[in-house]
Amino acid sequence: QVVCVTGANGFIASWLVKSLLERGYTVRGTVRNPEKSKHLLNLPGANERLELIEADLLAPEAFDSAVHGCHGVFHTASPFHFNITDPDSQLIEPAVKGTLNVLESCAKAGTKKIVLTSSVAAVAYSPKRAGASVVDETFFSDPEFCQKEQRWYVLSKTLAESAAWEFVKEHNLNMVAINPTMVIGPLLQSSMNTSNELLLGFLNGTAKSFPNQAVGWVSVKDVAMAHILAYEKPEAEGRYIINERLIHYGEMVSLLMNRYPQYPIVAKDADDSTRLPSYNLSNEKIKKLGLTFQPLEEALDETVACFKELKLLD
Ligand code: NDP
Repeated sequence: QVVCVTGANGFIASWLVKSLLERGYTVRGTVRNPEKSKHLLNLPGANERLELIEADLLAPEAFDSAVHGCHGVFHTASPFHFNITDPDSQLIEPAVKGTLNVLESCAKAGTKKIVLTSSVAAVAYSPKRAGASVVDETFFSDPEFCQKEQRWYVLSKTLAESAAWEFVKEHNLNMVAINPTMVIGPLLQSSMNTSNELLLGFLNGTAKSFPNQAVGWVSVKDVAMAHILAYEKPEAEGRYIINERLIHYGEMVSLLMNRYPQYPIVAKDADDSTRLPSYNLSNEKIKKLGLTFQPLEEALDETVACFKELKLLD
């Protein structure tokens, strides 16, 4: 079966492409810079079953040829950065217009199933969370709240996912959304990605403080598998939170200090106030679809081993 993966060279997408090739799929990967995609060509099966196609999210009809003839499309491409000077052009437009651009190609091609890489960013950021002890897939982030808090990446993912649901409803397309928390794991790609960079900052001591906030963490291998389950299981529907563990940044830093005492971890609470009460993120729905999670400690060990191999850590 032929499937398309947008942003194929990215951190999560590279693992997804690897898993799809291992399962026998023929993969068309869209990339905007073939120079950043060479690692994909060395994956097992790539010679026979991987084709790379250049496509920018904002170029009209850029995905038509990539999507044409594919049974399924995994739309993962979207900018994930925190150092932003112009949220509209750097995040929101590529996320929202890019998603609609890909979906328009899917509508033209009659794609049978679409898996959208959304984020827990599109789930958990709303005033509704304040009173909740458990956040599940029925929560949807509130754009006004994100805007007020200037959470531009969160806003981009929220607007992109809601625009996608509207589009697929109107065009009668079958879509499932995957909503991961902070994804860590060994890099297949040659450049560093935002979520691994955050972890690396704690380990190498460049991160001096952490926000008063709880964050979820999950292994990239599990996120890739969640995409595949969502695609292959006919009963998959709606959205799926993908999270192994939600912990306060402070607890994460303590865990890292205990597990890797050889590294110069220094980050401290950014303020002295009591650590904010946490909530839980439900991962029951994806477990019911068959996903088992790699424990966070194991995912950390594998990520640290990769950082060492890449000489990013001693
Ligand atoms: P990466 O930065 O590694 O990958 C992002 C991908 O999107 C790259 O292929 C990038 O291409 C592509 N992209 C960005 N802007 C454009 C554009 N204008 N045109 C074409 N391609 C573009 O990040 P991740 O793998 O972490 O993220 C992949 C997806 O997962 C994103 O949708 C992200 O929001 C989502 N996600 C990530 C989480 C995480 O913790 N990592 C958590 C939850 C969701 P290029 O390399 O050329 O820049």
